[in-house]
Formats: sequence, structure tokens, C-alpha cells
Amino acid sequence: MVNSQKIRAVFFDQDGVLFDSMPCHAKAWEMAMNENGVPYTAMDCYRNEGRTGPGVINEIYQRLHGTDAPQELIDHIYDTKSNYFLQLNKGELPALIPGVRDVLQYLHKNGIQCWVVTGSGQRNLINSLNNTFDGVFTGIISAFDVKYGKPNPEPYLKAWERSGFKKEECMVVENAPLGTRAAKAAGLFTCAVNTGILPDSDLEAEHADKVFPNMAALLKWLQDSAILSV
Ligand code: MG
Repeated sequence: MVNSQKIRAVFFDQDGVLFDSMPCHAKAWEMAMNENGVPYTAMDCYRNEGRTGPGVINEIYQRLHGTDAPQELIDHIYDTKSNYFLQLNKGELPALIPGVRDVLQYLHKNGIQCWVVTGSGQRNLINSLNNTFDGVFTGIISAFDVKYGKPNPEPYLKAWERSGFKKEECMVVENAPLGTRAAKAAGLFTCAVNTGILPDSDLEAEHADKVFPNMAALLKWLQDSAILSV
């Protein structure tokens, strides 16, 4: 930490941090893009994780055509992807990331605020957050609250502003390189938990302050490091 200030609020990314939803997101993106003539792989999905849906489509369209994607194409591909995501989950919520409930309960029990900060516009997941996690969240910032989305710092800045805490009192838990970039650009201490298929070096390259292999390791560090205001 930059000084002796203790953490009072933790901002959690959603996909790959709360829900083990990235494998289905990757498959849904691959199917929706490919059937619309856009070459796209699971690896592309993990590398782009954190962008809003329209942001994902626009990024690859710009790479292929050097211009912004037409709005109708964005809407069509994103609707298709969202429907595939629901189908692949068979109408159920994705499993939780192992150990994340323990992290949330430990923080909540100790009076540390927990927030969700996600680029997701997947309404079934966002609407389930309060029920699924027993009302531990103080606030939720989703694709519906931001203009730019990650890797822009906007979502994390919005959470920080709404929390009312100093930046040194806030911390981020991310799993994605672009999410880590957004959090660091917002000036926040960032723990990356590598729950996906990319190497740790992708998270270190975005200057994550800490990289953990799983939630149990993050929880142990939270308990041992005296970083929290408990
Ligand atoms: Mg994520």
C-alpha cells in the first residue's frame, strides 16, 4: 500500500471473479462472431474480457476494417451472443468461482464494503447478484451505468466516487488483464486472481499489485496482511 491507510471497500469484478462464467462467455462469443463472419477464438475472448459487449465487437471490427462497426451489426451480434450464453447455461446461473463466497463473507463480517464493478450487460447475472450472494453488496456498477467500460477506468472511478472513501481505502479484485488495466488507471490497489486460461504474466504486465492462483490464496493474504480496516 502507498501508506498506512486501511482498506474499507473492495470492488469485485463479476465474470471470472464471482461467477465461473468465462468458459460459457468464450463459447457464446466464438459462436456469435463466427456465424457472422468474424474470426474469433476463446483466447480472443479472454484477452478482451472486461470490455462491454459492444466494445468487444467494435474492437475486432476496427482491427479488421479500420472503422467502427455499424450499430445494427453490434446489436445483432450482441443479442446472438447473449442468447447463446443463456442457452449454454441451460437457463441456470453459472457456478460460483470456488472460494469467492468465503472471501465475501469474511469481508462483510468484518464491516468491509463489497461492490460489484462489471462491464457485463447480462441481465440474468446482474439481477441475481443480491440473492446469490445474500445481500453482501453495497452497490453494483454494470454496463448500464457507464459510457466507456473497461479498460477505461470509468467503472472503477464510478464505484470509488459512489463509495465516498479515499482511493487508498479501496481495493479491486480482478481476473482479467483489461480489468486490471482499468483498475490501475483508476489509481486503485489491485489484486488479480488468475481463474482463467491466460498466463500470470498477462496480469503482471498490467501492473496488478498482487497475483493469486485462487480465492483461497487471496483470503489467506487478506487475513494475514493487515491490509483491511478490521
Ligand atoms: Mg472478469
